[in-house]
Amino acid sequence: MTDTIEPQPVAPKDAQWDVLIPVRDLIDKHPDLALTIRETVTQYVRDAEYPALIPVQITDDGETYAGVRCPWCGIDVENSEHLDVLDENDRSTTISADEFDHDHRTVSPDYDDRGQFDGLCYVCTGCDRPVSLPTAWTER
Ligand SMILES: [Zn+2]
Repeated sequence: MTDTIEPQPVAPKDAQWDVLIPVRDLIDKHPDLALTIRETVTQYVRDAEYPALIPVQITDDGETYAGVRCPWCGIDVENSEHLDVLDENDRSTTISADEFDHDHRTVSPDYDDRGQFDGLCYVCTGCDRPVSLPTAWTER
């Protein structure tokens, strides 16, 4: 493992608006489809494959410790507590550093009310981009 990564290329800053124009036009022409479009987009966001977080060994001031870096911006989401789980209702739960288990390759988010939490994706809050858990890691 290393403490350096190649950040993922990102879309131009205003590209998000170009992507949304046909969606907005479709809803303007067919408002009856608005809820179907919303549900479909939610499903696509849930099913999409996002760049995986990268487990690393970080050396800082002569001390080496485990971390997990964002593939988009390179921030250590584990030790800076910049990894959230986002649910369908725009609620987020931050995964704290002690909820990462490198030996068992798991994260264990502490949901306030797990029964009501409908997970959508993981988000690096350092850059507000979706990510997936590191390869072979799971949530428990
Ligand atoms: Zn990031």
